[in-house]
Amino acid sequence: MTSSTFPKIIEPQIDNDLPMQPARTKVVATIGPASESRIGELIDAGLSVARINFSHGEPDEHRRRVRIIREAAAERGVPIGILGDIQGPKLRLGLFPGGKLRLRKGDRLRLVQGDHMAERGEIPCNVKGFLDAVEPGHRVFLADGVVEMVVEARGVGSLVARVRRDGFIGDRKGINLPDSELEIELPTEKDLRDIVLARELELDMLGVSFVGSGADLEKIRSLAPGMMLVAKIERLSALDELEGILAASDGLMVARGDLGVEVELATLPMVQKRLIRKAMQSGKFSITATEMLESMVTSARPTRAEVTDVANAILDGTDAVMLSAETAVGRYPVESVQMMTRVAQSVEGSQQYRDMPSVAFRSSEPTFSNATALAATQVARALKLKKIICFTETGNTVRQLSRYRPTAEIVAVTPNVSTYRGMSILADVRPILLERGGDLNVMLVDALDHLTKHGMLEDKEETVFVAGVPLGKSRSTNLLKLHRVGEHFTFG
Ligand code: PGA
Ligand code: MN
Repeated sequence: MTSSTFPKIIEPQIDNDLPMQPARTKVVATIGPASESRIGELIDAGLSVARINFSHGEPDEHRRRVRIIREAAAERGVPIGILGDIQGPKLRLGLFPGGKLRLRKGDRLRLVQGDHMAERGEIPCNVKGFLDAVEPGHRVFLADGVVEMVVEARGVGSLVARVRRDGFIGDRKGINLPDSELEIELPTEKDLRDIVLARELELDMLGVSFVGSGADLEKIRSLAPGMMLVAKIERLSALDELEGILAASDGLMVARGDLGVEVELATLPMVQKRLIRKAMQSGKFSITATEMLESMVTSARPTRAEVTDVANAILDGTDAVMLSAETAVGRYPVESVQMMTRVAQSVEGSQQYRDMPSVAFRSSEPTFSNATALAATQVARALKLKKIICFTETGNTVRQLSRYRPTAEIVAVTPNVSTYRGMSILADVRPILLERGGDLNVMLVDALDHLTKHGMLEDKEETVFVAGVPLGKSRSTNLLKLHRVGEHFTFG
């Protein structure tokens, strides 16, 4: 490579003043005790989607947090989506005297069913059908994969397992059983209660943990109509069922926490790339999650590896990057969001980002709206337009546009509040809520006025509109109009 081909990187504007311009990549942050009182600051630092983790906290806590998020978003007039993450059949250890237990390589212990206090030489696991499903030779990972055991024999009411990689385990830590065929119940009783709560709170998206198949998602879909479903890919078996899972979901999460235990850890980076690419090719969005800026739980600055991880996920094509403990319980929640926004802006200013391979026309969806989306992307590229303005009811065409990763920003105009908030997860999309008055002419003029007034369009700027007639009918996108701001036009 010669120096002239070394891509120029445009520096993002670094200043510590909030609010910051949001990046085109979306930032998801988990709301917890550390961030609940700082939601406004998170939004001003570039937050797009707030995540409520139903694995922790009480219903009233979730209600309070959702109210605070909605209020802060309304105050600022910005689209903030809320993702409710249901726990799913998370496998957990029981309790240990003193809260933890040290396991040494070569130790032999008995794995038993239950979530009680462990007796000497025993490890309780709260896994249904555990003793039947786990066989000699299967691996058992404890405490997010810190400890690895291998089952040697079946005993009476227990399994004898030997420690292969040592470390500490503790109360209620996670268990992963990648080799065992478990009867997984999804949704669990707790999930059912949390879905009812999610509906009460009118959440925009539901994160479905430990999805195993498309059928799992269809079940959840019937319980949570109108909510976007995010399939969390965190079981080995989900990788085999990916096509069906993608077909039944709106997007996926590369849930690297559990996935990083189930797959050989060293292969995780390539699994991530494949998942993101597959999502894009299937017309679905993707979120890359877990440990992205982990050191910021306790440190005001992330490591070099962490910022590079965020940048690389964006270059893999992820729609959104997610923060978990960093914002839920960390010391630097606002700084973490700020850092992600800055890294994203830096990547988005680079030639590599503009040259990111985009997907071809998705022939699996031979529809007017998909073809119009691709055409708008190509027109915008050819004419170097800065904006594609898309009118949408359900957000469907906007999702298709976003999959083609146009160089132009997608300004997505909708009269529908839930579409407005739901689109907050899509890369390159700026959702705008605008009432629709009258016919197509009125709609275009209103949008032009709004966008010009808010500095999103300049006089004489060339732009492209995408819309559907008749108006208000979903999945009817069939119209593409090139326009120069300030020129008069009329249809019909
Ligand atoms: P969790 O999911 O944070 O709910 O465990 C994400 C992951 O496993 O990475
Ligand atoms: Mn997980």
